[in-house]
Amino acid sequence: MNRSSACDVAIVGGGPAGATAAYLLARQGMHVRLFDKRTYPRPKVCAGLLTWKTIDFIDRTWAVSPRELMREAIVVHACRDYRIYFEQTEIGRGHLDFPFYFVDRAKYDHYWLKRAEKAGVRVETGMAVKRVDPFEGTLTLVDDRVVRANTVIGADGVGSKVRLAMPLREKEKKFWRRNLAATIESYQPNIGKSPSSYASLHFGQVAWGYGWSFPGPESRTIGLACLPHRNRGNLRGIFDNLLATLAIDPKHISTPKSWPLPYGNFLYTPGCGKALLVGDACGLADPLLGEGIFYAHRSAQIAAEAIAEAYPSGNDAAYIYNRTLRKKLLRELFWFKRLRDILFFGGYNRRYRGLKLFLRLFPKRLEFAVHGQKPLSRLLLPWR
Ligand SMILES: Cc1cc2nc3c(=O)[nH]c(=O)nc-3n(C[C@H](O)[C@H](O)[C@H](O)COP(=O)(O)OP(=O)(O)OC[C@H]3O[C@@H](n4cnc5c(N)ncnc54)[C@H](O)[C@@H]3O)c2cc1C
Repeated sequence: MNRSSACDVAIVGGGPAGATAAYLLARQGMHVRLFDKRTYPRPKVCAGLLTWKTIDFIDRTWAVSPRELMREAIVVHACRDYRIYFEQTEIGRGHLDFPFYFVDRAKYDHYWLKRAEKAGVRVETGMAVKRVDPFEGTLTLVDDRVVRANTVIGADGVGSKVRLAMPLREKEKKFWRRNLAATIESYQPNIGKSPSSYASLHFGQVAWGYGWSFPGPESRTIGLACLPHRNRGNLRGIFDNLLATLAIDPKHISTPKSWPLPYGNFLYTPGCGKALLVGDACGLADPLLGEGIFYAHRSAQIAAEAIAEAYPSGNDAAYIYNRTLRKKLLRELFWFKRLRDILFFGGYNRRYRGLKLFLRLFPKRLEFAVHGQKPLSRLLLPWR
């Protein structure tokens, strides 16, 4: 017989999205339960780059500064210089007014989950959710317990079980698959040399994607993301070409790891029945550089606000969430994807002329847009 229990909100996944939603809802006095199939701290394939908008979000939500995250050894590096390459040729470089911060993802995610627990969330790690009913608001756990909730939040990443339980149309499923990037990432220890002083982005190695090399105190992170259907050949072969460009011997790197990355496949209605999807579960990452940590935090905040607004009156949280998310995040990502397709990647066969011209004409604009200090969608419009 199934053992059943109830709560206000049940959250699947304890990454940045799940932990943020859990924390904010518990602070409103709700009975929140969170389940993650992994035990924490758990590893996550990620380059760990935080832009200004994430630092600003963290400051406003938890009043935590980069200095404090450095003290906890969560932020492991900061870097202001960057270079952009097309194949072997440098096409842009700059010095950032605000640095890129790099975090240890295992520690970062664990830190926010502990904050949620402290705020009163009942967290069960090492506990996978095996079935979800988004209309009944029920989760079935691997040990066959059933959890009933007024609202279920799917913060369970790209392979989301909650999303799979939603009645998506065939068109939406196809859109999801076509815009899901494949990635590969590895580390090169800084043995015998000082850490490189700049972050570099590499275009032209792959179509509809890019490579990166990010500095760190002990190793640098080298990775590649691209839409598989736009590229012929295996990802490992393309990654080896990137290593050759960077003059790195493949013998001197850690075993490369792969993980899917949302790359413009955001769902337009991630709320359905009693379930709301947040973060990677609904494809929220920026469609040029694949930055997803900020979108995980921010969508979780929007979901928490929608639930808090709907809760007392018995209104439909999914409806409020869909409407607000569209206005506050999706519109921006939609225009940025358009711009990416036309100006940056659509120019692949024209050797990234759009990107090169852009970097020459507006060197500071891309920096501000990537950091979130100016809207991405206004890249080409006059700035006030
Ligand atoms: C190679 C690579 C590099 C990246 N680099 C960056 C970067 O530099 N900066 C950046 O901002 N973003 C980066 N990203 C994106 C970023 O990692 C994600 O956008 C972010 O982790 C999304 O957070 P999330 O909370 O939505 O999901 P996740 O962090 O994936 O968390 C989902 C959680 O759900 C749990 N879960 C899944 N299924 C179940 C289940 N059935 N039951 C219970 N629990 C479950 C998982 O164990 C996991 O802990 C990168 C991604 C990749 C692949």
